[in-house]
Amino acid sequence: MQKVAELYRGKAKTVYTTEDPDLLVLEFRNDTSALDGERIEQFDRKGMVNNKFNYFIMSKLEEAGIPTQMVRLLSDTEVLVKKLEMVPVECVIRNRAAGSLVRRLGVKEGMELSPPLFDLFLKNDAMHDPMINESYCTTFGWVNESNLARMKELTYKANDVLKKLFDDAGLILVDFKLEFGLFKGEIVLGDEFSPDGSRLWDKTTLNKMDKDRFRQSLGGLIEAYEEVAHRLGINLD
Ligand code: ADP
Ligand code: UDP
Repeated sequence: MQKVAELYRGKAKTVYTTEDPDLLVLEFRNDTSALDGERIEQFDRKGMVNNKFNYFIMSKLEEAGIPTQMVRLLSDTEVLVKKLEMVPVECVIRNRAAGSLVRRLGVKEGMELSPPLFDLFLKNDAMHDPMINESYCTTFGWVNESNLARMKELTYKANDVLKKLFDDAGLILVDFKLEFGLFKGEIVLGDEFSPDGSRLWDKTTLNKMDKDRFRQSLGGLIEAYEEVAHRLGINLD
């Protein structure tokens, strides 16, 4: 499947149209951003690692009965996906306290959250992705009640699948963000799941193995992503 034209250049990926109006190519670049795109750096191999990581995770989610955008891998950095009408709302699950939850509530980082928390954020860099709730979605028309209920159900289901997958690899799934869209009227998982949009801690040392290494200038970002991929059995060659 050939790329036809650039549709959108995001902070980490470029989206291309194809000859098929229902399909897009996502190209994972080496760019890494923080602070809603105010800070951007390039890391060798990152596009390749995240593309293969995302393909692996989405395949596991698909196997578990979660509808995903995935069609097939095209190259080290490109994947063919269904073209979704994206919902501009990010779904976040938190199994442990970290990041904005700690900043907002002053709870201790690492605190276990049982049952896990479910947060919604509006996808809007200019407004710094503000936190919203279910009623905002209907009032502002971002997504209707039944589609939002489905997004929530699928995010919790993904958490069940992925918590176990990472646990078996010696990692704690602290939190993660998912984006959904509509494909022929059905809610489908889009965008990506990678260490860019999740927090993964080593079970024994509690070392951070995700984008917090970049956000907090801890170094060793790609080495950490590759270690996680290796533990999951993802082939990066
Ligand atoms: P951002 O837009 O936040 O800078 P990216 O660099 O990851 O993020 O850009 C990818 C863009 O493509 C995002 O806006 C995302 O919502 C959109 N997208 C991801 N998957 C799909 C899909 N399957 N169909 C249509 N758009 C998608
Ligand atoms: N996240 C993301 N994109 C965003 C905001 C958050 O992928 O625009 C992910 C983030 O990597 C983490 C989870 O969502 O895994 C929860 O993020 P949080 O609300 O704690 O915000 P942050 O500390 O990243 O600002």
